Amino acid sequence: MSLLARYSRWAVRSRKLHYSHLNTLSYWSFFSTSATESTQTRPSPPPIRVGLTQYAGRGVFASRRIGAGELIHTAKPVVSHPSFSSIQGVCYFCLRKLPNGVSSSEAPQTLSFCSKQCEEQSKKFFDVEKKADWSTFNDYCRLQGLKYPLLVKRLACQVISGAVSSDVLDILQPENSSSDRISKMKNEAALLRTTFQHSNIESEQLAFLTEEWYIGVLARIRINAFRIELAIGSHQDLLSSAAALVDAEAAVGNAVYVLPSLYNHDCDPNVNISWIENVDAKITALRDIEEGEELRICYIDASMDYEARQTILYEGFGFHCNCLRCVSKD
Ligand SMILES: [Zn+2]
Ligand SMILES: [Zn+2]
Repeated sequence: MSLLARYSRWAVRSRKLHYSHLNTLSYWSFFSTSATESTQTRPSPPPIRVGLTQYAGRGVFASRRIGAGELIHTAKPVVSHPSFSSIQGVCYFCLRKLPNGVSSSEAPQTLSFCSKQCEEQSKKFFDVEKKADWSTFNDYCRLQGLKYPLLVKRLACQVISGAVSSDVLDILQPENSSSDRISKMKNEAALLRTTFQHSNIESEQLAFLTEEWYIGVLARIRINAFRIELAIGSHQDLLSSAAALVDAEAAVGNAVYVLPSLYNHDCDPNVNISWIENVDAKITALRDIEEGEELRICYIDASMDYEARQTILYEGFGFHCNCLRCVSKD
């Protein structure tokens, strides 16, 4: 796996994003609200606001003092998908490790859900997905070692089912794709479209699925997708955490969020993003944060040295980091 693939779990924070668009977006709809929370107490809005930074882009700021260790908010993905190596061992919706899951890339026909709730939440896109024969598309992705087209496939199923709008990811910054990459994307777009056309899905329902749509979505997913590594895989892992630590392939899948993609990067971050048991992201304060302070996460492995960090941030995310740690060449 290339360094880029390994570290491209965060977004380029390029400054082209339209702030006016942000104002019209309902961020709160992307916050996690469990069934019990919504029926009992309404969760208070998280202590953050999205605003403009001095370096001409948007960022996330503390709207009050936040204490070290505080859970700032959780976030549900817009789209997520298990990795091929985990597809039989995790919930096809929330990526939670299944108690008796098989971790194998062979014969991935058995797709399971961890609960009735996940099955119900998947019903719309899964009903669409089941209409088509995915063997060619999946084989192509597997042979090419591609993971992000699986996210586009799921998003397309979500759009066809009416669960989300085809422009749901437009708010995110796309990568600047090379012409070589664009021609590969065109092939994938054709393959995805053909797969749907061979099913009994109405052609009007596929009108959104153009080359441009595919390229635009994949270019956003490529720099905004998070690689999901669960801190706790299952109850069994809890009991034998040593075994969990030696698990060679820690990533269970990939996911794209809206709000978490609005955080800027810092090599000495004050905020951390993590996944405990499923794809729901938890954003936590790493230290005491004052009201008005910008909240930043680290897009890469913070333990790397200055040169390595600069290289990966530039090649993977398209910017030179000028955080305090980088300025002091630490
Ligand atoms: Zn689940
Ligand atoms: Zn830095």
